[in-house]
Amino acid sequence: MNDKIKALVLSINDYRENDSILQVISEDKSFLSLVVRGAKKLTTKHHFNTLCIYEFIIDYKDNKTIYTIHNGKLIESFYEDKDLALLSYKNILLELTIKSKELYEFEMYKNICCTLRDINRQNMYLLGSLYVSYLLRLYGINPNVDSCVICGNKKVVTISNRYGGFLCQEHLNQETTLSIDYLKKFRLINKANFNNYDLIKDVEYDIKDFSIIIDFFINNSDINIKSYKFYKELFG
Ligand SMILES: [Zn+2]
Repeated sequence: MNDKIKALVLSINDYRENDSILQVISEDKSFLSLVVRGAKKLTTKHHFNTLCIYEFIIDYKDNKTIYTIHNGKLIESFYEDKDLALLSYKNILLELTIKSKELYEFEMYKNICCTLRDINRQNMYLLGSLYVSYLLRLYGINPNVDSCVICGNKKVVTISNRYGGFLCQEHLNQETTLSIDYLKKFRLINKANFNNYDLIKDVEYDIKDFSIIIDFFINNSDINIKSYKFYKELFG
């Protein structure tokens, strides 16, 4: 009874006539669905936002995944009300997390919260790419970034989503070449992780770096990320 759960709100949807339902990732209890009773009534005391961490009071039972919220206290907000581009970029990271629900592991909560906490206009593409590289490893679809996937040649000229990594000039086929700078940064981000973030934090990643890695993820996981399409249309 009255268990405290610390969790990040990933999405909010209408539920039944007057309620809404939050999809959250919790600090130590995986993904949960939390119902806000009477959320759509004007008199409600419960207002929740995506991109915020709350301490929720629920009656936790091990075999359930949907709960009614008795109370919720705001702990930390990563919501952007002034920067629409950054807000919409953060939504890509939330959608990536929701769609990775089946692969939940303890580190996921820590990694998404660290990313959202530290992200700003300067490092957004670096941190977003780092989060995608973490997911690529989690899915077991991380690219081969040491040599050409087909022949092992160290002199590579592009990244192939179809072959799962670098290709050399000889095996380039229909793909377009990439500059050495993008190839190097792609290799670096796929070797890095959140524990050694300090080593790469000053490397500049731009929207193209992010596009290369998220396109690789989308192609190899077969997961559609709607918020990414939306972001590209508006800010790409
Ligand atoms: Zn080759």
